[in-house]
Amino acid sequence: MAETPTITLSMPQPDIALLTLDAPGKGANVLSRHVLEELASHLDALEKRTDLAGLVLRSGKEHSFIAGADLREFAASFTAPKEDVVQMCRAGHALFGRLSQCRFVTVAAIDGVCVGGGAELALWCDRRVAAEHPKTEIGFPEVKLGLFPGWGGASRTPRMIGLANALEMVTSGESVSAREAYKMGLVSDVVPPERLLDAAINLIRIERQTGQYLKDRQTWSQPIPISETELGFLAATASAMIQQQTKGHYPAPVAALDLMMENAAEDLETALKHEAEEMAKLFGSPVNQALINVFFLDQRNKKDRGVERDDIAPRDVRQVGVVGAGIMGGGIVAANMRRGVPVVVTDASPAALARGVQKIMEEASFNRETKAPDAAKAIELAPLLNVSRADEEFAVCDVVIEAVVERLDVKRKVFARLEPLLSDTAILASNTSTIPITTMAEGLKRPERFCGIHFFNPVRRMKLVEVIRGEQTSDETIATAVAYVKRLGKSPIVVKDGPGFLVNRLLFPYMNEALELLLEGASVEDIEKAAKRFGMPMGPITLFDMVGLDTALYAGGVMHEAFPNRYADNPLLAKLVEQGRLGQKSGAGFFNYQTKKREPQLDPGFGQLLDAHRRGQKKFTQEELQHRLFLPMLLEATRVLEAGLVRDARDVDLGLIYGIGFPPFRGGLMHWADTVGAAKIVELLKPFENLGDRYQPTPLLREAAKANRGFYGR
Ligand code: NAD
Repeated sequence: MAETPTITLSMPQPDIALLTLDAPGKGANVLSRHVLEELASHLDALEKRTDLAGLVLRSGKEHSFIAGADLREFAASFTAPKEDVVQMCRAGHALFGRLSQCRFVTVAAIDGVCVGGGAELALWCDRRVAAEHPKTEIGFPEVKLGLFPGWGGASRTPRMIGLANALEMVTSGESVSAREAYKMGLVSDVVPPERLLDAAINLIRIERQTGQYLKDRQTWSQPIPISETELGFLAATASAMIQQQTKGHYPAPVAALDLMMENAAEDLETALKHEAEEMAKLFGSPVNQALINVFFLDQRNKKDRGVERDDIAPRDVRQVGVVGAGIMGGGIVAANMRRGVPVVVTDASPAALARGVQKIMEEASFNRETKAPDAAKAIELAPLLNVSRADEEFAVCDVVIEAVVERLDVKRKVFARLEPLLSDTAILASNTSTIPITTMAEGLKRPERFCGIHFFNPVRRMKLVEVIRGEQTSDETIATAVAYVKRLGKSPIVVKDGPGFLVNRLLFPYMNEALELLLEGASVEDIEKAAKRFGMPMGPITLFDMVGLDTALYAGGVMHEAFPNRYADNPLLAKLVEQGRLGQKSGAGFFNYQTKKREPQLDPGFGQLLDAHRRGQKKFTQEELQHRLFLPMLLEATRVLEAGLVRDARDVDLGLIYGIGFPPFRGGLMHWADTVGAAKIVELLKPFENLGDRYQPTPLLREAAKANRGFYGR
């Protein structure tokens, strides 16, 4: 049986051809090899016709034009010879190029997401019209995958919208809205979605009269008219911007910049040849593979229902309750409001509740563009918030999240008070960072409806949420929690109960090692630099100060107690806390935050403390420091996998990328380990084995090394 085609031809008017892309059974159109072949055969037929005034390309998906190339096909060709990659790009140029050579006018009618290869396809048309809709975006996210637009995007875009605009779009990977696209000349018209086809046809009629499209075809095949001075200025500013954003870890934006600069003086055909050659250098590179892995991790997470059984359906969550209006409770309430979920909030302290509500409104109405609260939005969202001091209000909630102080006795009292009020199907959850879910569930009447829903701080910015399964938590509770967390726009990872759950458990060995290194003689600066060079957003010492040293000390205590053979007591944190140095929040910790200098300075008080406790004066190379920091984290992850705390190594990777900013260009901790190789990691551990159990290769690592197998099961 023939496959249902993605592209169909219709004739809305006798001289207007319309190609509609609508991948059967898929949520979005992607440009797979197969779809490109379909496009080619349609063009074969249309090009021969002499009766056409124009061709319109549009999508049959609601508010989604084309989501880009088929990345699974890309991933399958990572090891292809460079000539094949050049060939793949050249074939794209040749195919899309036909849209700019037809004897009729070609127009892309864009409603919704139009990115990557989809944007390139649209750009090869003579004209574009866009639907005025929040989902309409045009962009080249390729740099976020370690590539640049290699089907003509890097060469044609600067010729159409100017080099400055094109550089911005291609090197940042950020999309533009329909209006922004109109302002920069990327689209000719912006109209309501229902008028899109008419507007496209109208444009064809105008172009046929003026013939302007023929002149533009000519202009866009030429070098870019720009002076050497302008070029120099653009190169300098763009390169500074890229360096600031990528810290030198992401080669694609730099490669795109260099290519677009060099190609400015070339005609389009030469530029395209260079584009294909440069693309082949990036394609399949370690960073490209890592970033595409992160993309797949995210896709996998979006599909993951949190439970294996297909017959478990999540319950509807219509109303949510939050107990505790502090830092976390407030953030969680605001996250619900931002997604239109009605929410009841309470707090034991009236003053805390009043403060909390003000913060909640600021958070809920925060405008990402102006980076400030938005009064009109606050008024619009206010009806979703029910501030209450009466527990009875929680009776209507489908999910109630506890975010009170981190004390088991206090939390238990809250549960004992609330559980009898809730409906039989409601879920009770805790946002605890350290207290075992199973321990908290003791004494509950319905422990199967209890779980952890662990948000990270600050809630608005952190995508990760750990959904923690206690011993008695039911599949339905997990599935409901996972679906609910996704509704908030977050990425849930299901973790079995255990000390530090997933992220804090893996973060601890790394942070602990930073303190050990200090005692052995490493400097704060060198440790921070080693972590940042590895790609972490900040060093572990700065992270201590951010988390708060009292909190870190307490969480560390939990880990020491759980794994005493791996972690020795380290006096530094306790001493700093004793001195009232709690980190950023108290004005000083390891660093001092009260100096006038832009960067926080190392606190002299800490220097003295360190001198008094140092065990040695060892000098470390940067590589050694990196191994010392990240190998214990990796070993801990293998223990987590051995214990089956998460269902897949991929959960570890997404958890760390979204939870602590583990560098995406390394693809995740386990992906990184796979690129290094398990046998090599066993080798790297050898010099540190005398440091104790925390550096001993685990059975899982040894097994992987022996079988020459990766943690992703490759
Ligand atoms: P917080 O001190 O800012 O807020 C706690 C709030 O709970 C306070 O407003 C307090 O008045 C209120 N409260 C205390 N007892 C109560 C009771 N019996 N009933 C109702 N309200 C009560 O604390 P936080 O930082 O928001 O932490 C809350 C929870 O979230 C803790 O379990 C903590 O471990 C966890 N957590 C914190 C972070 C973080 O970075 N702060 C991150 C993840 C998880």
